Amino acid sequence: MIHDVITLTINSYVAYLFIVLIGRLIEGWANKVNINLLNSIGLNLRCALLNALTQAITLTVVPVVTVVTVNAAGGGWLVLPSSGWMLFPAFLLYAFTMDFFEYLFHRAQHRIPIMWAMHSLHHSDSAMNVSTTHRHHCAEFAIKSITIYMVGGIIFKANSSIMGLYVLINFFNFFAHMNLRVGFGRWWMVINSPQYHRIHHSSLREHWDCNFCGLFPIFDVIFHTFYIPKKDEYPPTGLDTGEYPSGLIEAAFWPLRSLWRGAKIIDGANVE
Ligand SMILES: [Zn+2]
Ligand SMILES: [Zn+2]
Repeated sequence: MIHDVITLTINSYVAYLFIVLIGRLIEGWANKVNINLLNSIGLNLRCALLNALTQAITLTVVPVVTVVTVNAAGGGWLVLPSSGWMLFPAFLLYAFTMDFFEYLFHRAQHRIPIMWAMHSLHHSDSAMNVSTTHRHHCAEFAIKSITIYMVGGIIFKANSSIMGLYVLINFFNFFAHMNLRVGFGRWWMVINSPQYHRIHHSSLREHWDCNFCGLFPIFDVIFHTFYIPKKDEYPPTGLDTGEYPSGLIEAAFWPLRSLWRGAKIIDGANVE
């Protein structure tokens, strides 16, 4: 088991480093580097390593819980085809449903105080870039595994082709977090973009609580949480309080930060 955890941790972290390296090369070509960005990347690399470890532990332990629950619920109500021409529509159904669950989870993260206490770590990056993609609290994956991922497992009996394609399409998240002046103009509704997701990370009040989607903005349209970015609208990112974790330990205990004396801020007076 420990061997599995170590192998999973190394594999997912190496994949993350590779994507961040490619993303940074592209971002570096488009933008200047500053000290704020270097600090951000340094922390994000450490957060991602902790997340790779906690995800590997979760993936090793939680499947036992998930399988028991899914079996108790009748085990995958909808059997998705594994080959033939039906594979593509089946994948679309799976991807849209899971992205809908991601949307609901994200809404809950902004609505429920304890969940916002965790998720605000992701929003604390004032120099949002490709590495911000994995600046999430280390407990988040475990919580998703026993909520939305488990519900997905109860609804669908998905084969490895569909699951693999879904993992692949989620690499798009790295693109959405990149610091690039890329939006899709009047096609904004088709899929998330760096501009559309930057609005979600904006520190400006007029952008709060909008553009929650993971992959498909259609869910923002259905629930009226969309904000169509204006041409050349690329707002500053980060928390309005300017709070950010000074290191990995503070990031790991981020939800308890109100107890943490002297939380860091970028500008102005200490808010704690
Ligand atoms: Zn958010
Ligand atoms: Zn984000």
